Parts: sequence; structure tokens; C-alpha cells
Amino acid sequence: MRDKLLALAALQKVDLDIAALKKNAEAYPREMAELEKQLNAAKAAVDAERTKLEQLETQKRTLEQNVSEDKDKVRKWEGRLSEQRSTREYSALAREIDIAKKGQVTMTEEGQELGRQALVQREMVKAKETDFTARTKNLVDRIDALKAKLAEVEAEVRSVDLKRAEAAKDVEASLLRQYDVIRKKRMPAFVPVSHPGTCSGCRMNIPPQRFNTLVATRGIDTCPSCTRMIYAAETLEAPSAK
Ligand SMILES: [Zn+2]
Repeated sequence: MRDKLLALAALQKVDLDIAALKKNAEAYPREMAELEKQLNAAKAAVDAERTKLEQLETQKRTLEQNVSEDKDKVRKWEGRLSEQRSTREYSALAREIDIAKKGQVTMTEEGQELGRQALVQREMVKAKETDFTARTKNLVDRIDALKAKLAEVEAEVRSVDLKRAEAAKDVEASLLRQYDVIRKKRMPAFVPVSHPGTCSGCRMNIPPQRFNTLVATRGIDTCPSCTRMIYAAETLEAPSAK
């Protein structure tokens, strides 16, 4: 009888190990997702600075284009100055030309200011890219390490699964069935009862007569409170003399 109990205890030990391993492994994908989130955030920060730079450059180009078009227009107007018949028409056009040229100066200055801002922004992008590269390296390294750990744990789980199958072979079929039903609801499923008859699974007392029988038979019973499989603690504590 003691061997049957030992086989079941050994199987339960393997099952507890498997549960602990799986619990450990659960944390890795979560950690990985967190690191990937950080990686994406760092990438988004660089992209935002790049977009700002592109906007500045587009504004600058548009302004330069406007100045160039305006210059063409003024050149045409200047060509027409000599065609003006009256002094009034002449001075009206000359004034238009003057206003347009002043506008060009303002636009050119704005373009230069945008150029300066773009220069500063380009430095900012470079700094963010450097920061991103450093962080990326670190994050990617950590993600790779987690992937390796996960693969290791998965291999370990496969090997304990084999161990489990081996351990289960040693357990009597009816006990195994009962144990497998209980372990899905409560772990540990197979627990000792110590004097004066306290189930170590639920801390409730079992009737004295049943406890006495359990001690005397050195067998297995069911806890009336939690339905776990129970045995007298002393059965497995010392080598059987009987
Ligand atoms: Zn119990």
C-alpha cells in the first residue's frame, strides 16, 4: 500500500513542477509584449521628429517656389513699364512692382528662418535616431534573451511531460483516475492528514473514526470537506515497518 501512495506522491510532485514551470513561462510573453511596446514608442518618437523636419522642408520649398514665381511676374511687369502711356499708369505699375519686391524680401527672410529651423530639426532627428539605435539594441537584446528562455522552458515542459507519463504508469489506474479528476480543480490533490485528523488541504477535521481507519490501514480516503485524496501523514513519513 505504501508503494501505491509513494507512486501517487511522486506523480503529484511532477505535476506541481509542471504547474510551476508553466506559471513561470506565462510571464515571458507578457514581458516581451511590454518590451515591444517600448520599442514601438521609441520608433514613433523618431518618426514624429522626422515628420516635423519634412513639414519644415516642404514649407521652405513652397515659399521658395512662391518667390521664384513672383520674380517672374515682376520681370514681366518691369518689361511692360516702358509701354505705359501715362505717368499715372507708369507710377501705378511701378508701385505694384515695389510692393511685390518688398513681399519677396519678406518671403525670402521667412524661407531663411525655416531653413534655420530645419537645420536645428535635422540635428534633433539625428539625436533621436542615435538614442533609438542605442535603445533598440538594448530592447532587441532583451527580447532575444526572453525568446531563448521561453524556448528553454518549452523544452523543459516537454521533458517533464515525458516524466509525467512515466510517473503516471506507476500509479494504480483507479487512483490515477480519481487523482486526475481532483487535480483539475484543486492542487495539491493528494494531501496528508496529521493528528488529530486535520486535512492539510482544507484545514478541516475529518471524523475521528475515519482518521483512525486511515492510520490503521495506511491507505487512502477522501476528505469529506474538500474531496481531496487523503492519507495519514505518518504513512509516508517513516519507512514502513509493517
Ligand atoms: Zn480537505
